[in-house]
Amino acid sequence: MSFEIRHRDMLGRIGRILTKSGKIDTPIFLPVINPAIQLILPKTLSEEFGCRALITNAYILRNQQEDGAKKKGVHQLLDFDGVVMTDSGAYQILTYGEVDVDPAEIIQFQELISTDIATILDIPTSYNARKDDAKRTVDETINRAEQLSKMKTRSDILWVGPIQGGHYLDLVAYSSKKISELPFQIHALGSPTQIMEQYLFDILVDMTLTAKINTPSHTPFHLFGAGHPFMFALAVALGCDLFDSAAYAIYAREDRYMTPFGTNRLRELEYFPCSCPICRKYDPTDLRSMPFQDKQRLLAKHNLHTCFEEVRRVKQRIVEGRLWEYLEARAHVHPSLLKAVKKLKKYENYIERHSTVSKRKGLFFFSSLGLARPEIVHYRKMLRERYSSPVEAKILLLLPQPNRKPFHLDKVIRKLLNLIADSNEKNQLIQVCVYAAPFGVVPLELDEVYPLSQHEIATPLDLETKEYVAEQVRNFIKSSSFNKVFLVEDTKVWKGIVTSVCRNIKRKSLSITFLRVEEKSSEEVVNYIARTLEAAIQDCHKDPVNAVDDITLR
Ligand SMILES: [Zn+2]
Repeated sequence: MSFEIRHRDMLGRIGRILTKSGKIDTPIFLPVINPAIQLILPKTLSEEFGCRALITNAYILRNQQEDGAKKKGVHQLLDFDGVVMTDSGAYQILTYGEVDVDPAEIIQFQELISTDIATILDIPTSYNARKDDAKRTVDETINRAEQLSKMKTRSDILWVGPIQGGHYLDLVAYSSKKISELPFQIHALGSPTQIMEQYLFDILVDMTLTAKINTPSHTPFHLFGAGHPFMFALAVALGCDLFDSAAYAIYAREDRYMTPFGTNRLRELEYFPCSCPICRKYDPTDLRSMPFQDKQRLLAKHNLHTCFEEVRRVKQRIVEGRLWEYLEARAHVHPSLLKAVKKLKKYENYIERHSTVSKRKGLFFFSSLGLARPEIVHYRKMLRERYSSPVEAKILLLLPQPNRKPFHLDKVIRKLLNLIADSNEKNQLIQVCVYAAPFGVVPLELDEVYPLSQHEIATPLDLETKEYVAEQVRNFIKSSSFNKVFLVEDTKVWKGIVTSVCRNIKRKSLSITFLRVEEKSSEEVVNYIARTLEAAIQDCHKDPVNAVDDITLR
């Protein structure tokens, strides 16, 4: 099994999986081909869409075209020379309760038809299942997974190990650990279909990340039944390398037209907001007046174009290191997606550990939603774990963020430093830090480290972002060893929040002066700070006392 990863962003990765029918580049969307109703022929997928891989159902093939499939093999039967993945009836179990095939037979059948990526006959956990029933599906799936190595005879097929447990996360974790002990080349989250249909994307985040956390990260991960392209960015950001969907065809049957922003009924459309070959050639009136079969096929083609296009967009975002920004944009397509993106905060440490945090481009920070992004989590961790203030520094001066980046080049900061520092020794006694959204405290000597100067923020900041920054300031002061702290707050921007969060810091030998100003760059303020610091330097060798001073300059 070879899975080569070229780029990462969040848990998304651009990679390449080698199969016996060639390589596939991930993340990849696999259209579902129903062997009984081929709305779009596999050959068309390959020729018109450049599609290199599809998924079909081994259970349906075995029921309806068993002899042909065994004789020709699945590639020739479908007339498709790309990579074929097969599912094995789990969806039918979920829908009809049971299937008339035994697990050993479906393993053997997939080998006989020479599929490239095969799936054991797992037992999906229904969303409504009681916990004991859910546990039964997990145990039976693990049991069947354990049988695979005794039954399979070929070594050139990649086998998928489905993870069950539904929304019972302890069961998902247990299932993931058990499945990852077995020799599967791909792991998959089974049975999220009902969750997807009900737009419970926040539960999908929990299920997927619980599975990811409990399986080795270098194994490709599949999401069964991914659905609508508006959630592809989320699926990829959660670390799904492969995902399949039949939605393009199901939607087409119901006159539904997919866009990356949601779905339109064909009857609602006056214009096609798309430039695929179908939408260039026809307008909505043309399609509406067509016979059902033709209309359905053209809608399915448009829907497929939308799906493939979205995957390419997501991949490009990974290359640019802009997956977070893209995910935020997609989050605003539907409240259920925003809810899911908000859920990522719960997993921010795991995502940060697996994400690239140094990028070619700067970050865009729009709102507090972005506080969970890996780069911000990473900086917070690094500052706490790896940074210590210069030993000779006795006084901490905390200034609100200037407009200019890097901060040390700001005119007011330079002027202030010049006023205080008529000798090196004095300069070294003072540590100057800026507190800035979205990162928190930035020591001036670090301000050129990526991405502390390489980002753009949308102002005015929202309350949650201000509170986050204030909390970072508080933690920084609390864990430092400075005797004297001067905290300057620009009240126009910070509205007293930083002062109020830091007021109750309990620490031995800390004298803290809160200086609230309305105009941080005024001559009077700069001179006042310089004079106060001068005085502080004079007596910084005296025994420290606990004190709080409140000064407001207007
Ligand atoms: Zn189109």
